[in-house]
Amino acid sequence: MNCKLCSALFQEFLEDSLSEELIVEVQDHIRTCSKCRVSLRTYTLTVTLSRKVDPPCCVSPETLDRLKKIIRERLLKTNGVPV
Ligand SMILES: [Zn+2]
Repeated sequence: MNCKLCSALFQEFLEDSLSEELIVEVQDHIRTCSKCRVSLRTYTLTVTLSRKVDPPCCVSPETLDRLKKIIRERLLKTNGVPV
């Protein structure tokens, strides 16, 4: 497992669509590679954020932007990772 392959598998890893074998490979790599650990966390946050902010039709784009900014700042404080 290398970094390039590892990051290519993030999406499937999060969707749980990898084989048992590959899940172990990704987990092993993430345990030893801080770069990929941060990337995966950032990737997870991005996916979570984009899912959360999709539907609200009653919120103006300005409000949504402000909310996204607040969420990002909270996450940054909590995790110390820029989103
Ligand atoms: Zn790596």
